[in-house]
Amino acid sequence: MQNSSITKENCISRFKEIFNRGPEAYGYSPGRINLIGEHVDYQKGIVFPAAINKYIHGAAVATQEPLIKVWSSFDHERILEIKLDQLEPQRGEDSWINYIIGVIAQYMKKGAKVGGLEIVFESDLPSGSGMSSSAALESTTALLIESLFNFTLEPIERAKVCQAAEHEFAGVPCGIMDQIAVNCGTQGHALMIDCESLELTPFPIPESIAIVVADTKVKHDLADGQYTKRKLECDEACKVLGAQSLRVATLGELNKAKDMLGTTIFRRARHVISEIIRVKDFATAMEQNDPTKMGTLLAQSHESLKSDFEVSCPELDRLVQIAEKLNAIGSRMMGGGFGGSTINLVRRQNKQQFLEQIKLLHFEMTGNDIDAWAVDPVSGATTSNI
Ligand code: ADP
Ligand code: MG
Repeated sequence: MQNSSITKENCISRFKEIFNRGPEAYGYSPGRINLIGEHVDYQKGIVFPAAINKYIHGAAVATQEPLIKVWSSFDHERILEIKLDQLEPQRGEDSWINYIIGVIAQYMKKGAKVGGLEIVFESDLPSGSGMSSSAALESTTALLIESLFNFTLEPIERAKVCQAAEHEFAGVPCGIMDQIAVNCGTQGHALMIDCESLELTPFPIPESIAIVVADTKVKHDLADGQYTKRKLECDEACKVLGAQSLRVATLGELNKAKDMLGTTIFRRARHVISEIIRVKDFATAMEQNDPTKMGTLLAQSHESLKSDFEVSCPELDRLVQIAEKLNAIGSRMMGGGFGGSTINLVRRQNKQQFLEQIKLLHFEMTGNDIDAWAVDPVSGATTSNI
């Protein structure tokens, strides 16, 4: 694990403090950024994420009692408990446990003999910021279960189990990008993921480029319905176009069907179809080390997410404008939207200055603080011996 502010030792000593004994398993999962390809994974599109050096660490022990006990630094006041034979989606302030019990339920469905558990999570990955803390939490849980109950899955299969947990327990009908990114990340690389074939192609991120994530600190809530609404709007577009997914539709076909689709559905579909084209163009620009082209594509992606897909918000738009003023290579909103973060590509020699200036300019404009971090592409979720 690289440059995490939390270590294995921190996580293990926290476990001992909470449960008065040592853990038997330890694992961690990174969060992810997405260079480009937003809101296209659930339409079988192409995406371009990278796992990053912000993590959710977990330690666990198997117990005789048929009870799941979980403590997380996310909600450090108390230990949540749920009976193993009562794994049902929870509502309200304890609903973060859904990501954990959802994964446990999926492993049980697959035949894993999961028993009682005590689990501790420590995290330096911000939640609800578009860096996929939900997939990281699912993957860390999955690794702990695999290690304690001798049930090993290939990373892609683990990703599918985690996605099913998010669908069935968290109520978010997400695509597969986040779970694959955090399970299959390759150090120093972004992963081009074909969400139809699940083919993964690693692309080295040029040394001259640094990745900065800037967090509006406006918390999105993907379970609040907007994400699901966009997914349904895309499904509606497919129905009218007679397409299996928007992945196979073309802009020409879309334009011909404009009147049948209506303005809103037309614009939603135009975002998805044009974004998939931008991902391919971005890969070419990155291979050719063409930062100007990469920047233009990020700007177009943001504009499309803002105007056609309508998932941006004033705070995200403002951060993108500030990044442009600071001569970033490119900047756009990242993740589900309605808050969360922007991804900024900056020249490596400008990284430090950019980090300082984006916070300063934002404060001068609004009187509010934001967070900004430089992040590095790392390997995917891993366990290590206690
Ligand atoms: P993102 O995946 O972009 O961070 P989501 O809305 O998909 O945003 O997931 C955020 C949710 O995941 C939080 O509201 C919380 O329920 C859960 N979560 C994230 N990190 C943790 C953690 N360290 N411990 C417990 N729950 C967490
Ligand atoms: Mg998420």
